[in-house]
Amino acid sequence: MKYYCMTLFPEMVEQAMNTSILKRAIESEKISFKAYDMRDYTENKHNRVDDYTYGGGAGMLIQAQPVYDCYQAIKKELATPSHRVIYVTPQGSVFDQKKAEELSKEENLVFLCGHYEGIDERVLEEIVTDYISIGDYILTGGELPALVMMDAIARLVPGVLNNDESANTESFSDGLLEYPQYTRPEVWRDKRVPEVLLSGHHENIEKWRKKRSEERTRERRPDLYEPYMVTERERLAKEEEKKSRRKRKNHADQNGESM
Ligand code: SAM
Repeated sequence: MKYYCMTLFPEMVEQAMNTSILKRAIESEKISFKAYDMRDYTENKHNRVDDYTYGGGAGMLIQAQPVYDCYQAIKKELATPSHRVIYVTPQGSVFDQKKAEELSKEENLVFLCGHYEGIDERVLEEIVTDYISIGDYILTGGELPALVMMDAIARLVPGVLNNDESANTESFSDGLLEYPQYTRPEVWRDKRVPEVLLSGHHENIEKWRKKRSEERTRERRPDLYEPYMVTERERLAKEEEKKSRRKRKNHADQNGESM
């Protein structure tokens, strides 16, 4: 996975990418990251990249030219031609784990971070493939949304997480929120770790975790719980049907009947 980030504040993105798990992933070449300062591509002799909006209104807009030329420079650097250009914007579809999974399969992702009032529409029409938001609120710039996405996507790239940081059991991986977790000590402020977790009985632990996951999702995220239950009911019905078919077949075999 190769990230290319078009921004007016490269140091903001670089600093976060150079920390903890993402830093390790870059050092071990599981992912790569390069920030491009769009200001380096402006033709304006005063180094400006923004101007007033036509039609009036508050705020400045990033001009098309520096964005377009910056993108052309990135295109020349791509090791493989396939890529998506993501404009992080509150006007996009909302980012979620499913989107992160889809994007983690790409070879090259170019992130375009807006600032001020945003970016001239004409260059967006020319270069953007995806419009993605991180939620229904307005931030000052696209750097934090791009970081949120790069972080969530990187965790799904094979080899980025160690085994003990596995993404498989986490919230959303199976449509549910994750179950509660505990570490040492066994008793803290008179609160005991649930007995079943100390039992070493893996089947019971799995059952307990699934039940807690379901309860937590029902309480905190009913919007996720509803579709989960529909799928779960379908799965149980199929299992029941399979069981009873097997039973009928066994019965027929024993009695020499044909089915
Ligand atoms: N005028 C724009 C609008 O109403 O849609 C908002 C511009 S915002 C102040 C500046 C930049 O921050 C945007 O161009 C975008 O790149 C980024 N941004 C702000 N909120 C965001 C969000 N919720 N998701 C993704 N990007 C966001």
